Amino acid sequence: MDSKLLIGIVVGLLIVIAGLLVTIRFLYTRHKVGKSGQQLLAADLQDEKVRSGIILNSIEDGVVLIDEKGIIQLFNPGASNITGWPATEASGIEWRSVIKLVNEKGEPYDEASHPIKRVMESEAPIRDNTAILVSRNDKQQPISLSLTPLLDKNKHVYAAVAVFRDVTQERQEEKQRSEFISTASHEMRTPVAAIEGYLSLSMNEKVSTIDARARGYLEKAHSSTEHLGQLFQDLLNSAKAEDGRLTSHPVVVEIGAFLEQLSNDLRFVAEKKGLAMEFMVGSSQNIDATNNARNSIKPLYYVKADPDRLREVVTNIFDNAVKYTDSGKVTLGLTGDPNVVQFYVRDTGQGIPAEDIPHLFQKFYRVDNSATRTIGGTGLGLFICRKIIELYQGRIWVESTPGKGSSFFINLPRLSSAAATQAQAQEATTIKPLTTVTTPVVQ
Ligand code: ADP
Repeated sequence: MDSKLLIGIVVGLLIVIAGLLVTIRFLYTRHKVGKSGQQLLAADLQDEKVRSGIILNSIEDGVVLIDEKGIIQLFNPGASNITGWPATEASGIEWRSVIKLVNEKGEPYDEASHPIKRVMESEAPIRDNTAILVSRNDKQQPISLSLTPLLDKNKHVYAAVAVFRDVTQERQEEKQRSEFISTASHEMRTPVAAIEGYLSLSMNEKVSTIDARARGYLEKAHSSTEHLGQLFQDLLNSAKAEDGRLTSHPVVVEIGAFLEQLSNDLRFVAEKKGLAMEFMVGSSQNIDATNNARNSIKPLYYVKADPDRLREVVTNIFDNAVKYTDSGKVTLGLTGDPNVVQFYVRDTGQGIPAEDIPHLFQKFYRVDNSATRTIGGTGLGLFICRKIIELYQGRIWVESTPGKGSSFFINLPRLSSAAATQAQAQEATTIKPLTTVTTPVVQ
């Protein structure tokens, strides 16, 4: 046979075979997708389940799913390690028998403040970094706890997921750090106070003779020394706030009268900078950050807190408002509903950029811009305020529009008039040991 003819036949055959193969593959693929779409999905889901299973079983964090009746439906090995309860025993029983929490003083949480109880009635996640978990063999471990409610379409909580982590190691390191800061700042306050004292003496015309130029230098040195003293004081307070050593002697306080009295001093601070000051009772933008305005306003706003600590907080946020406002007005306001007392400080100042707001109540955080760079500060004030407000189960937050101003809000649980009267009667009959006398703010 002619070789050219042979090559032609072979090439022709190859083209036919290739065509057949493409057709078969096309038909096969169409058949497979059509028939097994469901199966592929099931396989994917199975895959997803396997993946989630691997993660749940391997992470160190405890993960627990609690249904609306309070029964544990899922308990991962991390949760077993931390609580000492095997998953087989914990699953199917009430969370109260398994997850035992106490507060920093070692006291069990009461019903109203228990984070798991609260999340079952909450639309928003709850975080608690102060709880201590008591394991099955009575070992106490500080934990970081995060609780997320699962909501149906009517916003009804049908289950909650608790994720917790043993933070014993972190707490020990924090304690060592804050002990060091505490000791160092305490020791350094003494020489700083001495320097400040001598600088004051040298500027006192009755005891020293100095020329005008020296006076200028000394005034600058004096103001820097005051700043340094304040920094040490803030450091000391923040270290105490961190390890729970902030002294607090809560009594019943009627916030209306308390703020009114304080407003006289605050007015002076504002007017010294040429700002107007206003004290308002009974209206606010909102009661909580979720904008659930509540209407009923009662004339007496009782809370249980240490008045010295509250004064520290209000003074701090008011001083900030004055510090970061060049012109306009600073308003101190009070409002509330049957459960909450809310006070706020609103200014017409430079405002705070949205990206800084989540960090504002952290230690040493300062907004970095040309305005704040020229204004002195330690970045510790709001951290200390948050720690104090959290001592009384309250909340502090800020809303701000850059260029227009900021509003700092504080919510505290409200005592009914009856509860306040009863508590006041108890306070009056309790013979206070010397150690419970309210201590001054600066210690
Ligand atoms: P500081 O000693 O720096 O004032 P704070 O903790 O009291 O420390 O405040 C943290 C930062 O928050 C401040 O440095 C400032 O940038 C910002 N800030 C606080 N209050 C206001 C306010 N009323 N207006 C604008 N910025 C504010």
